Amino acid sequence: MSTTGTVFDIQRYSIHDGPGIRTLVFMKGCPLRCKWCSNPEGLTVKPNVMFTPRLCYGCGRCAQVCESKAIVINNGAIEWHREKCTNCLKCAEVCKISHAKKVCGNVYTVPELMEEVRKDVTYYKRKSGGGLTVGGGEPMVQADFVRELMQAAHAEGINTALESSSYATAENARKIYEVTDHIFTDIKHMNPEIHKELTGVSNEPILQNIKMASKLLDTARQNLVIRIPIIPNKNDDEENIRKTAEFVKSLKVVDRIEILPYHNLGEEKYNRVPGVQTYEMHGVQMLEKGDLADQYRWVEEGGMKCNIGGL
Ligand code: SF4
Ligand code: SF4
Repeated sequence: MSTTGTVFDIQRYSIHDGPGIRTLVFMKGCPLRCKWCSNPEGLTVKPNVMFTPRLCYGCGRCAQVCESKAIVINNGAIEWHREKCTNCLKCAEVCKISHAKKVCGNVYTVPELMEEVRKDVTYYKRKSGGGLTVGGGEPMVQADFVRELMQAAHAEGINTALESSSYATAENARKIYEVTDHIFTDIKHMNPEIHKELTGVSNEPILQNIKMASKLLDTARQNLVIRIPIIPNKNDDEENIRKTAEFVKSLKVVDRIEILPYHNLGEEKYNRVPGVQTYEMHGVQMLEKGDLADQYRWVEEGGMKCNIGGL
């Protein structure tokens, strides 16, 4: 039987996720719970229901099938009590006209997903040097599937990129690093306790895996980029940024550090999926690229090339 993977989105014409114009596949499931996560619909591997209020015309079909009484129609508008939702997906099955309620998470085999990738990548790679990028969620959660997908892409001459937290067993991390051309991986904080407070997990496996990636790296065909999402008053201080640059420099093969300005574009999704944490960064101002001048300088003074990335 072929390996299957659960994907929560496929984006085309992406220009922020590796060289050229790329097709971006979002794998579902993540072991981290970052306070600033912009994809709460990608946290669980299991498909979940997602609600878009502006598409709802109040027909009430979803309330009729909801055995948990999580949906109430009030003056033609639905009230969704997410705390009662068991994620049975029945409401999405009956919301056939507006798709205000829909299932987030599709299961693919590798050949099925390659059909999607192939639609755009043939064009992208000729025109722009683009290819396939796999992000998430955390791609290493579905490591066997992602490895097969990347191998299938390589078999067709399509280059691969990875966007990852690198939080995984060494075995799973290795499976993915080996088949990735452009590795983008985060370091969110250098202090293990603070990292745990911010993301729910320690940074120790992450730093170990990044060290492993640097040793495995075949610099003739692969490159490794470390990303730091800059989160106001969480990880943007001089000590943390300088320590990150020092660690990355010691690896010797890292191409550059990319610093990414904090954004809150995922906040509105928190009320649209059941069972996820509340958005803890509510009210924090988005950063502009120009706000990262200090962090840029600290990275460069640490001897690493720095880029300011982001949207
Ligand atoms: S079935 Fe869809 S359109 Fe009808 S009330 Fe429910 S969410 Fe709204
Ligand atoms: S997914 Fe949640 S809201 Fe929808 S029918 Fe099931 S329990 Fe009710």
